[in-house]
Amino acid sequence: MEGLLESEAFRGMLETHPRGLVVMHLRSEVDRLRREIGRHSDPAAFPEEVEDPQLYATRVEDRLRVSTTPSLRAVINGTGVILHTNLGRAPLADCALDAMASVAHGYANLEYNLEEGGRGSRYDHCTALLRELTGAGGALVSNNGAAALVLVLRTLAFGRSVLVSRGELVEIGGGFRIPEILESAGAVLVEVGSTNRTRLDDYRTAAGRGELGMILKVHRSNFRITGFTEEASLEDLAALGAELEVPVVHDLGSGLMVDPERLGLPDEPRPTQSLAAGADVVAFSGDKLLGGPQAGIILGKAEWIAQMRKNPMCRAVRVDKTTLAGLEATLRLYRDPETALREIPVLAMLSATPDALRKRAEKLAANLSALGVTSAAVEMSSVVGGGTYPGVELESFGLLVESNEGGADAFAARLRGASVPLVGRVEDGALLIDLRTVLEWQDPVVLDLLSRYVGS
Ligand SMILES: *Cc1c(COP(=O)(O)O)cnc(C)c1O
Repeated sequence: MEGLLESEAFRGMLETHPRGLVVMHLRSEVDRLRREIGRHSDPAAFPEEVEDPQLYATRVEDRLRVSTTPSLRAVINGTGVILHTNLGRAPLADCALDAMASVAHGYANLEYNLEEGGRGSRYDHCTALLRELTGAGGALVSNNGAAALVLVLRTLAFGRSVLVSRGELVEIGGGFRIPEILESAGAVLVEVGSTNRTRLDDYRTAAGRGELGMILKVHRSNFRITGFTEEASLEDLAALGAELEVPVVHDLGSGLMVDPERLGLPDEPRPTQSLAAGADVVAFSGDKLLGGPQAGIILGKAEWIAQMRKNPMCRAVRVDKTTLAGLEATLRLYRDPETALREIPVLAMLSATPDALRKRAEKLAANLSALGVTSAAVEMSSVVGGGTYPGVELESFGLLVESNEGGADAFAARLRGASVPLVGRVEDGALLIDLRTVLEWQDPVVLDLLSRYVGS
């Protein structure tokens, strides 16, 4: 080991990496080689390999490269799935990034009242803005949508029954199932009606089972039921909740804050509408259609929000300063819907026209062809993703690129292995890059990656 470390082959490496790290990888490499030699009857089979320091240096360098590459890094999304949960959902607006960097770089008045020079509350940030934008009496931000729902249940229905339609006992993904969330929050699920039909009377009948805590309506955000169906309206449930003196909670999921018509999308319940329809509390995500950082947002009557703020669970799901800064900056953009559509990447991607995408695809294809890469600008369809707008397809444009080496799967794998990984999709043996989810400033990077990894 000492001899190797002192050799010329290791000099440069030891200048740029901590000695301990180089030693650790060299030890693993030496051990691996010992085991390899031990398995062979004739150790003389690799005399040169065992003695050449350069061989060890090359292998240790490979190991260093792997171990010094960050595990979490930026990737380019060419899949056409806008809210790709596996790829981190919503990319953020520039002003959100600036706000996050500014509070992360130093200290912040997270729990400090600057007027009084004393203790403040982190839960006061974003509250006035959320109330202004939605008309809610109170607002509370947690670290994600699931946490928001657990906090609501825990505070308003701990040890008591919660009425949920059998048609809304959904699984969102990532282990989030309504019956299990209720259980983990200490609430007792009372199933109402049937999978396809649940009427107001069914809720009334079920209300007699156990001590009632709340009525919960869950938006079927990621699937549809069609055919012989019926459900109680939020207005009717709100009236029943008032009569039975229990809160009616609407788990909305996606948190769309602009008119879906402006995006050319079908109707989707929005927080403001749910509150206007009489929901006492609504909960949704910050990083789905709202287009902000990962967060859970709870809106509702001030008295319920005050109770949630006091619940010990609130501390366990509390949001951090960078999220609050990013969320506040994103929410501010909603004061002018035009600005929101332009500045919030998720909304800009949703409203990108097929024509604009086609122009980008054609330009890239021309540039690729100049570099000797065979590609074509082709029509394709994107989806909203993130468990929203199931079945909705957005007409899009992108690139179809032919690999020069191996098939499309091998090409896709090489692109995933790049220092800035590009994730595309393989369809019918061809690699496709949907430009709807590629941010425009990434186009030159996409060009560079495709030409470098297409193979020779
Ligand atoms: C996505 C979703 C949630 C969970 O929100 P996360 O932010 O992913 O934790 C809860 N309810 C519904 C209806 C959803 O669509």
